[in-house]
This record gives sequence, C-alpha cells and structure tokens, in this order.
Amino acid sequence: MITPVSRDALSISWEFEWWNTGSFAARGLFSHLQAGWAKSEHRAHVGMLQLPGRKVLFDTGYASRFHDCDAPWLAAVYRWATPAKIFPGQTVIERLNGRKVDHLLLSHWHADHTGGLLDIPEAMVWRPFSSHETIRKEVISAHAPLAGILAGQFSEDLPGLPGTPFSVRLRNVDAAPVMALPVNQWPFLSEIDGCCRDVFGDGSLALVSLPGHARGHYGALFKTQLRGRSVLVLLCADAVWDERELTAGWSRGPAAMFGFHNLREAAETTRQLRRLVAAAKAEGRSEDIYILPTHCTRAATRFVAAGGCD
Ligand SMILES: [Zn+2]
Repeated sequence: MITPVSRDALSISWEFEWWNTGSFAARGLFSHLQAGWAKSEHRAHVGMLQLPGRKVLFDTGYASRFHDCDAPWLAAVYRWATPAKIFPGQTVIERLNGRKVDHLLLSHWHADHTGGLLDIPEAMVWRPFSSHETIRKEVISAHAPLAGILAGQFSEDLPGLPGTPFSVRLRNVDAAPVMALPVNQWPFLSEIDGCCRDVFGDGSLALVSLPGHARGHYGALFKTQLRGRSVLVLLCADAVWDERELTAGWSRGPAAMFGFHNLREAAETTRQLRRLVAAAKAEGRSEDIYILPTHCTRAATRFVAAGGCD
C-alpha cells in the first residue's frame, strides 16, 4: 500500500560528502563494451549525509582489510581480478575521524562496499530482511568470493546470526513504510515512485529498490544543496557501473556475467533509470537530479564540478 504524499517528502536538505576510498584499473571493455581496450578506473565511493543530530553513511568502500584478511584461494582470485589501491586518508575510519555514525545504508554485501564495516560498530545497519538469510548462507559458503563477498570483512557473527550483536544492529528495510515521492514538484520522479521506503519515518530520505546487481540491492534518494540550489541525488550503488549506461546507451561487458546476480532484473532496473534520466531531460530538469553510481569517475567529477563536496 502506498502512503499518501507526505508534505515533507524530500523537503529536508542534507549536508552531503561523496568521496572515493580507492580504485582499480582494468581494460575498459571488460565492464563496458564501448570503453574499448584503454584502461578504465573503477572507483569505490561512499557517501556521508548529515542532519543536525543524525549521521548516515552510504556504504563503506575499501579498507585495508580487503588485502589483509585471511581467505581461501577464491578470495585471492577476487582480489587479483579487482586489484584495488586504497588511498591513505580516504578510508571510512580515517574520514570519519572520530565522528559516530547513527545509520549505515548498506546497498549490498560486495567486498568493495563493505571494507569499512568493522570500523563502524555503533551504527544501525539497514538491509532488506527478505534476502538476508540467503546472503548469510552465501557468506559462510566456501564459494562466497564468487558472489563478490569476502567474509573476513565482517564481524565474526557474520551478517546477522540470530541473537548475536550484529543482528541486534540490523534494521529491516522491508518493514519501513512505502514512501510516495513528491511528483508534483519533480514529475520525473514518477519513474521510481512506488519502490521507495521511508526508513527514517520523516520523508527525509527514500531507499530505492534497484534489483539485479546483488540480492536486496538498493540506492538512496535525497535532497541537498549545490551552491545554494536544491537538487536531488540518487546514489544508485552498482545498479549501473558508469553513468553512460543511462545517458549514452553504453552496455555492460563480460564482467557483468560474473558481477551481477540477476541480469534480467538488472536490465529492467537500468531501463527504469534510463526512463528517469529521459523524463528529467524532457522536462528541462536534467540539472535537478544527480545519479551517482558508486564506481563512476565521470559522474563524481561532474557532481563536484557543480559544487558537490568530496
Ligand atoms: Zn561495487
């Protein structure tokens, strides 16, 4: 059931930082056919959102334990395939510099999004419970690295054994009310209306279901200010790896065969985001929404050039 449009939906402006924790370089065509043989940088951004009295982190990027954690040979293969450089001063724990996080929005469990998970033991962690038991079994499986998961980056009780400290911190995205988006103000939002959850109960942020890349994969939609102008930001995590999948018809390369959980669902999610971009353009409002994929250098650069904080 869709709740009535809240007067307050997306009316609050968050302070927002979007920074890169590390990256690896690989031949472009592995991730996108149109990128060719030249090397492409694959970043791992994280987002910090702040309101008075509330700090929210979107994903945790790379941290040094990506390289350090003991792991069977499959994990070594995963690290070999994505040979990340982790930048000094840019990991979550370094950038937080003692600031406590109240809520962690974890888009999915892949290793390039969970490196800093152990560094924020205080935060409530938002995940859809509908996929949780399956993911927990994946984590304890010897084949976890094939699903992009390095169990050594998690606490010993893994993501949520019943009755353990981590499970106490978990919050269920599925239990949050469906959030109706303010489509009168931003008509292009009708493309993603009906698949958003009001996790904080005040309309300040919508979690957006973006299935396909991984089980329970989601993004976050909210308002912020760029040089005094209100804009929307959609952190779409790995729904697409490069914004040109949405703006220039780029298609994913062979890496998607290994990196995506459900290619059919992922293709539908990509089409939905393309419709969103096209609707904003048709309304002459392309500058009113920034869609930021976690790994896209180009989108991050464009956002910072417009006044975004990194
Ligand atoms: Zn990723």
